[in-house]
Amino acid sequence: MSTDIEIAREATLKPIVEIASQLSIPETQLEYFGRFKAKLPLSLIDEEKVAASNLILVSAISPTPPGEGKTTMSIGLTQGMNRIGKQTTVVLREPSLGPVFGIKGGATGGGHSQVLPMEDINLHFTGDFAAIEKAHNLLAALIDNNLQDRKRSLNIDGRTVVWKRVFDVNDRALRNVVVGLGGTSGGVPRETGFDITAASEIMAILCLSNDLSDLKQRLGNIFIGMTRDRKPVFARDLKAQGAMAALLKDAIKPNLVQTIEGTPAIIHGGPFANIAQGTNTVIATRMGLSLSDYVVTEAGFGSDLGAEKFCDIKCASSGLAPKLMVMVATIRALKYHGGADLKELTTPDTDALRKGLVNLEKHLENTRLYNLDAVVGINRFTSDSDEELAIVKARCEELGFDAVVANVWGEGGAGAEELAHAVVAKIESTEKTFSPLYDWNQPIEDKIETVCTKVYGAGSVEYTSQAKKDLRKIKKLGFEDFAVCIAKTQKSFSDDPSKLGRPQGFEITVREIEINAGAKFVVPITGEMLRMPGLPSIPSSEHIDISDDGTITGLS
Ligand code: ADP
Ligand code: MG
Repeated sequence: MSTDIEIAREATLKPIVEIASQLSIPETQLEYFGRFKAKLPLSLIDEEKVAASNLILVSAISPTPPGEGKTTMSIGLTQGMNRIGKQTTVVLREPSLGPVFGIKGGATGGGHSQVLPMEDINLHFTGDFAAIEKAHNLLAALIDNNLQDRKRSLNIDGRTVVWKRVFDVNDRALRNVVVGLGGTSGGVPRETGFDITAASEIMAILCLSNDLSDLKQRLGNIFIGMTRDRKPVFARDLKAQGAMAALLKDAIKPNLVQTIEGTPAIIHGGPFANIAQGTNTVIATRMGLSLSDYVVTEAGFGSDLGAEKFCDIKCASSGLAPKLMVMVATIRALKYHGGADLKELTTPDTDALRKGLVNLEKHLENTRLYNLDAVVGINRFTSDSDEELAIVKARCEELGFDAVVANVWGEGGAGAEELAHAVVAKIESTEKTFSPLYDWNQPIEDKIETVCTKVYGAGSVEYTSQAKKDLRKIKKLGFEDFAVCIAKTQKSFSDDPSKLGRPQGFEITVREIEINAGAKFVVPITGEMLRMPGLPSIPSSEHIDISDDGTITGLS
């Protein structure tokens, strides 16, 4: 069987100008990055078309470690929609090098549902992550410079600085560091650390901004820490926002590429959904909606993470509204939730499958919290038996949801035509209109409790003494009307990764709460979540290579 990268290499790519012409973008508007990638200017966004187009949100059940195929399904469904004559663009996030070199691998789909050129998209792409990293670390350097400077000192208390540095590789050794060593000329020693770039507030800000002026204003609003006389310090106090925005002048523009079947794909921004808000930029979504009749987009991990944040943060702040959710389910993950061993998931096991269906049920119930209809897309693996597929379909229908088996990995768009018809029919017939779950004006604890009890199924929320301190600080600083972007494991509805299926009545522990004032959300961190992951003992990087003629192997 061919690997993803082998299948990708067999495809003949169209010049990017041909992809742009499918969207009626004049060649003069394209900013080329080689022959197969281009950046799109924000002037192509057309608010009337945004309002008239159809946004489809792809979510999934709680995943197994390799993922359940949301990206693959989003791409396959888009190819299928185009095959049945519906002009559709897939709008996705950019991959992070953390998972590319760690466990999960790249994020460009798989089999016959991929976005290309996958080597480029997975490795650096058009440099957006690097620009975000630079803008983030510039602010860190300005803070340390101010601590050193006596004449222009803002009187910042170095011990209160919450702004860390970022790096786009899983590197646990950087989680806690001491900077400023080396005597008086080396700066003021203080403890700090690194997060992964996908967790950077600059990433969140880029993803939520409407345009350059909004971006700049949000960059200025970043909360850095406190002065020695207990006053808050923001990036604007260091006059940092102009230079940071200048570094992001290209990163703010969405990237146009193509699917393996030569249909348009827009890829832009890349926050994770467990430790950040988990969806591509507002600008890219608006761009896709401006240029086509349908947009298929993905929010990371399950409905408890990416989809919740998509609805309550991205849509609530931008006014975007999905028309429909597509819930991706796999037989393998359902068996896993029903108690089957991770190594046995390719063996038919209808008992485990039936037990695991409770996980899908809760994710489907969650779509109703947002007053959305949903279609279940069963992502077919070669190991799935017909009996297993029939069990899942029957249960979904009992619950009032259409479920369609799609073989997007094996057949590309042809394997998603039935799903595409079901999606279009549902959009045309639905009487539901999207509404977010909470009002940003509620107190922070109410918002946290609403998400934990309604979306996760928790019985109660517990705060550590640090989290209580953070809550007091948030109130004092006047940030109560921010959204909540909860950091939680993707493996379970709870904050305990070992609680599979549909845990109920559990307690969620909020360990601490970070402030992202530029992004306008706070980040309650639950359980053992870390914002800088580590590498596994056998990292994927060991399999990645490049030959003397420049051919890359081992990316998946
Ligand atoms: P997600 O977006 O949900 O994290 P991805 O779409 O990235 O998941 O898929 C995760 C991995 O699983 C990818 O390597 C992809 O190639 C593979 N994959 C997805 N669907 C299938 C399938 N139906 N059969 C085989 N492999 C698949
Ligand atoms: Mg994905």
